[in-house]
Amino acid sequence: MSQPRPFNFSAGPATLPEEVLQQAADEMLDWQGSGMGVMEMSHRGREFISIYEQAVGDLRELLQVPANFRILFMQGGGLGENAIVPLNLSRGGKVDAVITGSWSTKSTNEAKRYADVHVAASNLADRHRSLPPASSWQLRDGASYVHVCSNETIDGVEFHELPDLKALGSAAPLVIDFSSHVLSRPVDWSRVGLAFGGAQKNIGPAGLTIVVVREDLLGHALPSCPSAFDYKIVADADSMFNTPPTYSIYIAGLVFQWLKKFEYAGKSGLAAIEQRNIDKAALLYAALDSSQFYENRVAANCRSRMNVPFYLRDERLNDAFLTGAKARGLLQLKGHKSVGGMRASIYNALPLEGVQALCTYLKDFEAQNG
Ligand SMILES: *Cc1c(COP(=O)(O)O)cnc(C)c1O
Repeated sequence: MSQPRPFNFSAGPATLPEEVLQQAADEMLDWQGSGMGVMEMSHRGREFISIYEQAVGDLRELLQVPANFRILFMQGGGLGENAIVPLNLSRGGKVDAVITGSWSTKSTNEAKRYADVHVAASNLADRHRSLPPASSWQLRDGASYVHVCSNETIDGVEFHELPDLKALGSAAPLVIDFSSHVLSRPVDWSRVGLAFGGAQKNIGPAGLTIVVVREDLLGHALPSCPSAFDYKIVADADSMFNTPPTYSIYIAGLVFQWLKKFEYAGKSGLAAIEQRNIDKAALLYAALDSSQFYENRVAANCRSRMNVPFYLRDERLNDAFLTGAKARGLLQLKGHKSVGGMRASIYNALPLEGVQALCTYLKDFEAQNG
């Protein structure tokens, strides 16, 4: 490729590793001599089954998923899971939820359609800019699960450590929505009962939803749960109860391969990408904090490594900022409409050079307009 591609800061669907896109392009018409493109294969054929098995195995290895958890490839996205989780886990009873931003608010409201939902803690009074300390959560006895969004994509708030519900006196499994930081860091599975995420932030194309669920949580779906969304039925069918999003799974599999081979700072695989994510985020937050021209408003102990919302103190310059960014090949920096301002999503596939280019632009734009 002659021209370097622009850096894409979209919150999702989001940038993918260039090598992955190139390989997919090369294999578009003929996957590994099969005479078929992946989109044209039966999901039950030998070729696709090998793609699927490799992808599940690689994801299990990357995330160190214990043997008593199942990995499901589903559809319906994060919002679908907001209903699918209570349909499978609530048994029509109590659900506790922690509100830390827009996505956990959505999950909580959806769960109310199926269960008795109690908000155990909320950072709304703080406009979703900090995390309510776990010791302050009002958890109920007998809750079927506790829902948390471990990275709030819009508000830029991330749990750097997952809560230990057992230590808080709760026997309920923890459910995490890890849509926007899956595979950016390890997961402490000893603290988790179920994790779900749409693929389109850090994994691959929209259409694939990842669910990692502890085996004892399978088999309790409400009778009204659609069969295609019943975790036990999906698990028993190895995610092939109905046709899975085959092409999304294929691309996700290429991303898993890319991650397994990823090297950075003397590390490899997930440890390497985590280190690069730490370095990228540190660089960007330092650039924002060192300026009076920009500001990030999230408490320092819970700033997201993936999604960095920021504001120009003079918001009249927003349009000029975005136009100038685009001219430099820095794409999709506009903030979510509900919070305004800017947002740089710096997912796994965004190179360090992309953050460096953004930091240079922040300085130059300030010098011209400050
Ligand atoms: C993007 C996102 C979702 C929504 O996913 P859809 O695939 O659009 O349903 C849910 N939760 C979080 C944390 C997200 O970032």
